Order: sequence, then structure tokens, then C-alpha cells
Amino acid sequence: MGVHRFEHHAPTTLEEVVKLLTELGTEAKLLAGGTDLLVFIRHGRIAPKHIIELSRVGELTRICELESGLIIGACVKLREIERNSVIRRLYPHISEAASQVGSVQIRNLATIGGNLCTASPAGDMIPTLMVSGALLHIVGASGERMVRIEEFFKGPGETALCATDVLVSIQLPPPKPRTGWAFFKLGVRGAMDISIVSVAAKLTLSESTSDIVSEVKVALGSVAPVVMLSHSVEKLLTGKRITDSLIEEAAHSVMNEVKPISDHRASAQYRRLMAAVLTKRALKTAFHRAVGEQQQLTQLEVNQGSVFNGG
Ligand SMILES: Cc1cc2nc3c(=O)[nH]c(=O)nc-3n(C[C@H](O)[C@H](O)[C@H](O)COP(=O)(O)OP(=O)(O)OC[C@H]3O[C@@H](n4cnc5c(N)ncnc54)[C@H](O)[C@@H]3O)c2cc1C
Repeated sequence: MGVHRFEHHAPTTLEEVVKLLTELGTEAKLLAGGTDLLVFIRHGRIAPKHIIELSRVGELTRICELESGLIIGACVKLREIERNSVIRRLYPHISEAASQVGSVQIRNLATIGGNLCTASPAGDMIPTLMVSGALLHIVGASGERMVRIEEFFKGPGETALCATDVLVSIQLPPPKPRTGWAFFKLGVRGAMDISIVSVAAKLTLSESTSDIVSEVKVALGSVAPVVMLSHSVEKLLTGKRITDSLIEEAAHSVMNEVKPISDHRASAQYRRLMAAVLTKRALKTAFHRAVGEQQQLTQLEVNQGSVFNGG
């Protein structure tokens, strides 16, 4: 395979990025950490003539805590997301997911925006941001807009971004009181591999009574062309008093909702079963966290296989 040559651009403002994208059109590609893009180039899947590096645009690399929530710049590295104290306190599932992407070397390069814009059904950050109600701030030649994360993904590798658009930041509303979160991923070799199935859950309990669900969201990765939210879990649990059998029923219901494929990593049937197992675990953990109890199960236990023993 020959060496692919391209011209490198390193703008320092968003305006410059959009101007370059407008001038260079489809010949140009944005580069964040490069952990997906450079692999695609090496494999000959794309051959851009221009690479526009985003890392020098200050606006893209900040994390800001506001009264209205948290703003995470699109080029914030996953290693920073894993370690940031505000994210760990307010959205522990997001740091937990970040900590399970690739290796430390990958996480030191990979960005949260790159994970979204690659739009892989197995992108580990996507389910966690979906259950958090993330809004995506996008700037392009025709102005700026906010897009709800569930409207961003159009298919594997396809997003709502137009040719001159840049994802600027991810905005998260502040978590409501008595909310618990969870993220679990199943991979062939644990954290170094992409997910066979991943599940994120958010569960908010009503303020007056201890175990009535006021809000619940479950998002599943690697079981459909795009990461999907489960409507059946929401329907079954909202407004109900939480019990083990209700969690069991809700987890079982996702098996009819997911649309997995069989590939070299797992069969569709295995993915369907694991989607239910991980949903049950994620809902239980989110519930225990919502009532302030210790997390039920660690990712380590999932990797070690105790999740298969029915408990
Ligand atoms: C060894 C290895 C292991 C991996 N393991 C995992 C894993 O366990 N889980 C997982 O989810 N992923 C994994 N990945 C994939 C990858 O690391 C992640 O998807 C990463 O978050 C991509 O971010 P990046 O900054 O490197 O993106 P880049 O490669 O720089 O960009 C990815 C795509 O997004 C576009 N883009 C980037 N930023 C923007 C922006 N702000 N606005 C518009 N478009 C943009 C680029 O043009 C490109 O098309 C792995 C990759 C490798 C090489």
C-alpha cells in the first residue's frame, strides 16, 4: 500500500475551520485524535487531500460546569473524561465508559467528539450520552444549531453533520436528585476490544417516595445499525414501584426491540440475550446508586463472566 499524502491545516478558531471546510469541500477531513481517521486512511477507506486538525481550537477542548449543566468540548480527550472530578461526580457512567475505551495510549489521543462523529453502533460514549439527554452544539457555514443526540445518528458511520459542520460541544443537563447511572460493556477481550453489546441506564426515583420510578432511560450499543434507546423499558418502568420482577420483565423486553446482526465477534442471538442480561444489571446498579447504595456490580465482574451466572 503506497503512502497517502495530504496537506495539513492547523486553524486556531472555529471560523477558520468552517472557512476551510467551505473552501476545500469533500477533499477535506477533520482530525481530532486520529484514532479512527488515521486507521480509515491506512486501510484505504478514505483518501482526503486535506486534513484539518482541530486540537488548536481552544473552544473545543474545554469542560465547563454551569448552572444549566455541563459543557464538554468535542475535542476533550477520553483520558480526561475518565479522570475529570466533575464528570466522575455528576455523570459517573460517562467516566466509566471512557475508562473502557481501548488502552491508555488510545484514550490519551481519542476524543469524545470523534467517538460520536465516527457514528459506530459500538461507540462506547454514545449510550452514556444518550441516557444523559445530551444536546450537541454544531457550527457550520449556515450557522449554529443544537441537535438532540438521538437525532444525530442516521446509520452506521452516518450523522446529521453537513459537509461544513463541526461538532463543537456536548451539553448535559444537570442530573436530577435521586438519579443513578450505570454503564456495562461486553467485549471479546474486555476493555481492549470494541463492544459486542453495551448498555447505559439512567434511573430517577420520585422525591417523595423511595422506590417509584419517575424517569428511566436505557440505551443499547452494538445491537442495531445505530445506538438505540429502549422504549419498552421506559413504558414498563415509568411511574411504577421498582421490584426485581419488574426489572426482570423490563430487561427481557429489550430482546424484542433490538435488531442485532451476526458477525465474526458474536451471533445475533447471543447479542440479544446479552442485551437483556446487561440491561438487568444496568437497571439494578442505577437503582442502587439512585438510593445511595454501593454499586451492585463492577465492570470487572462483567468481564470475568459472573454476569452469566444469573445473579
Ligand atoms: C486500538 C483501538 C481501540 C479502540 N477501542 C475502542 C473502544 O473500546 N470503544 C470505542 O468506542 N472506540 C474504540 N476505538 C475507536 C476510537 O478510538 C474512538 O472512536 C475515538 O473516540 C475516536 O476519536 P478521535 O478523536 O480519535 O477521532 P478521529 O479519528 O480524529 O475522528 C473520527 C471521525 O470523526 C470526525 N470528527 C472528529 N471530531 C469532529 C468534530 N469535532 N466535528 C466533526 N467531525 C469530527 C473525523 O473527521 C472522523 O471522520 C478504538 C480505536 C483503536 C485504534
